[in-house]
Amino acid sequence: SSTAVKPAASAAGMPGAQDAPDAKESSISCVIPCFNEAANLRHLLPLLEDTLWSTRMRWEIIVVDDGSTDDTAAVAQAWCELPGFRCISLSRNFGKEAALTAGLAAAAGDAVVVLDGDLQHSPSLIHAMLAQWKAGAEVVYAVRQQRSDESRLKQIGSRLFYKLLNSSDRFVVPKDAGDFRLMDRKVVDALMSLPERSRFMKGLYAWVGFRAVAMPYTPEPRAEGASTFNARRLLSLAIDGLTAFTTWPLRMVSLVGLLFAVLALSYGAYVILDHLMFGNSVSGWATIVVSLMFFIGVQMIFTGIVGEYVARIYEEVKGRPLYVVRRASGVGLGADKP
Ligand code: UDP
Ligand code: MG
Repeated sequence: SSTAVKPAASAAGMPGAQDAPDAKESSISCVIPCFNEAANLRHLLPLLEDTLWSTRMRWEIIVVDDGSTDDTAAVAQAWCELPGFRCISLSRNFGKEAALTAGLAAAAGDAVVVLDGDLQHSPSLIHAMLAQWKAGAEVVYAVRQQRSDESRLKQIGSRLFYKLLNSSDRFVVPKDAGDFRLMDRKVVDALMSLPERSRFMKGLYAWVGFRAVAMPYTPEPRAEGASTFNARRLLSLAIDGLTAFTTWPLRMVSLVGLLFAVLALSYGAYVILDHLMFGNSVSGWATIVVSLMFFIGVQMIFTGIVGEYVARIYEEVKGRPLYVVRRASGVGLGADKP
């Protein structure tokens, strides 16, 4: 497989950020979760490397190969010959959230930037993020300016999702903010200390808190390949997020149950009074069948809602690791840390 060629200047140990006088001051890690991004990595890695040299900080780039079936692992591992590059290959496809967690666990920098491997998140934003970080922000998250490239249905769905998700007033999951962000070491440590297995990252970022600054940006179109987040996956991600960060659906089940009980009691009282006072007989099997069907339907939906939560409990109780590493290569910042 053909791999990207390292720019000659930095290859031969040119005095760069790694050994600049102020180099020991702070360091930066970039984490890239990748599922079948070989073609994109060939463009992204040189671009990102140039950006990182120009920050004059010590840096590392961590590519997490999330069980890719193309030569993502080969491309990334070839770059790992060079200092600063690391590649963590997972044993199969575990999903973006797990891949991200693997990358964050490995990152050693004082600041950690997460970005997609498909060039939608332009490395050119990193300088602005670092400036905010140096000015005291603990999280700098990129916010998509427009979603006009997305279908109407996806826009409505996402608006509804955020409305349902943000039922807590203690912390808010910002709309249109994805995984593209810079986080201080404190924030990454806090994230890694969360024990849960269902990693809805957008929610976890918000849950840990810290001083966060939004940075508007316009995502580039995906360079090569297609997004793996189809409608089914997005829906499943949304259910994961809602069950992990809200309990109001459970409360709603009880409230609706209570409402129906009150309605049934009043109707019962009406039927009895109608019979006693006006001598009307109780009429109609059709009403019975229809209401029976209706309530069986409602009950099944509610069992399903409760079941979603039970399923999450089951996932947590099993306590399986979030991901399995097949191979880790390269040397990043970790090695030269005291
Ligand atoms: N990704 C991953 N594992 C997966 C699916 C996606 O690591 O199972 C990575 C993918 O390589 C990319 C990022 O997650 O770097 C975002 O994925 P994608 O571009 O498909 O999603 P979208 O941009 O549509 O949100
Ligand atoms: Mg993408």
